[in-house]
Amino acid sequence: MARGGPTPWAIFDYDDTVGGVLINGTPEPGFKAYDDCHRRFRDAMAELGFDRDWVKETQHEIDMELAKTHGFGNKARFGQSFRATYEKLSAVTGTPVDKQAATRLFDIGMSVFTDYPYVALEGALDVLDRVGQWYNVAIVTKGAHDEQMKKLAASGCGAFADEVIVCTHKDTAEWAKKVIGPLGLHHAEVAEVSWAIGNSRKSDVNPPLAFGLNGIWLRGMLGWEFERADAVAPLPGRALHEIDDIREVLDLLNVRSPSRAA
Ligand SMILES: [Mg+2]
Repeated sequence: MARGGPTPWAIFDYDDTVGGVLINGTPEPGFKAYDDCHRRFRDAMAELGFDRDWVKETQHEIDMELAKTHGFGNKARFGQSFRATYEKLSAVTGTPVDKQAATRLFDIGMSVFTDYPYVALEGALDVLDRVGQWYNVAIVTKGAHDEQMKKLAASGCGAFADEVIVCTHKDTAEWAKKVIGPLGLHHAEVAEVSWAIGNSRKSDVNPPLAFGLNGIWLRGMLGWEFERADAVAPLPGRALHEIDDIREVLDLLNVRSPSRAA
């Protein structure tokens, strides 16, 4: 990194880049909480006598239908689709609906928000700490403001950030308005020594590359099809790396050595 010039920025995505959830004592990417809830739902349905594959297929159809009518932001949708799957398969098979069972299934769906504590992913706090010795650290995250702030506080990641910026779309326009301008990254001498790090090419890496930053894409944690996007090439002289573990950031940013303060 450049010495004596402006302090560069290291801009981290939060969800599934440095932050995740605790599942059976292990930090995992957030989408795995959904996988875990699906598994628990299918287990409960199997106990009620329904075929797992049929349950899976039916729940998926109902979930997609609810997403269309209620939107992806509806937090109760998951629980609603579990309960509706049970009611539908009960109707098809002529089985009476047990109200307690229906409630229990709804609760499994809602537990995605309560049963999985927010934690930092393995190695992430060390990365944020060491990178912060050399760089200004920003966490730029997408979601509802209060919920993202809660995750940042609970996981401990927020304590390492000089700036936290919550986006609703995290597209190029929002990057320009909320990140590039306010952090002074429209100055080429700052952008060229700054990095953007995240697990979504589309939201975390492509827009900052277009603004002349360097990029690091964390592969292998993709849980959502809509996170996939075509690669955008970095500007001339800028770097783009692909990594499988957040700890690789330490070598790419050359921050293993003692801090500037030491
Ligand atoms: Mg992410």
